[in-house]
Amino acid sequence: MSLRISIERLSIIIMSAIFLVGFSGIYIWNVMMMGVPIMEYGGIIDFHYTEPWKLTVLLMIILSSLITLILSATWPLLMDRPEDGVARLQCPRCGAPVGKDYMACPSCTLPLKQICSSCGERMPASYNACPRCGKTLRDPGSDLP
Ligand SMILES: [Zn+2]
Ligand SMILES: [Zn+2]
Repeated sequence: MSLRISIERLSIIIMSAIFLVGFSGIYIWNVMMMGVPIMEYGGIIDFHYTEPWKLTVLLMIILSSLITLILSATWPLLMDRPEDGVARLQCPRCGAPVGKDYMACPSCTLPLKQICSSCGERMPASYNACPRCGKTLRDPGSDLP
């Protein structure tokens, strides 16, 4: 299975990872240091405490970038699977992606399915006899259409 991660998606992953690491660092710094130290007379005389609302904003930015990171990283796994299932079926003549219900290749018009003239069963165009009613559809030796 090929995961086709687009450049746009990759840049979102990288950006949210940078946001996550950067703002986590700022948050940890603020919590660990309990604010920005105020230096005076060659020593720390006080701490400028970070207001709780600023820490809340920081936490929200961290959480949203984490959610963005998870979503952008798992999006191809969640969303591209049905598309992949279609893309795995290819026209045997031109290689164009075809759905499993397609009666003919939309690109080169190669018939992919045939309908039994006796019972109406749909089957691959390569079948020589209907698997449901047993009607012979064509001589086994003849070429594919
Ligand atoms: Zn085709
Ligand atoms: Zn039939």
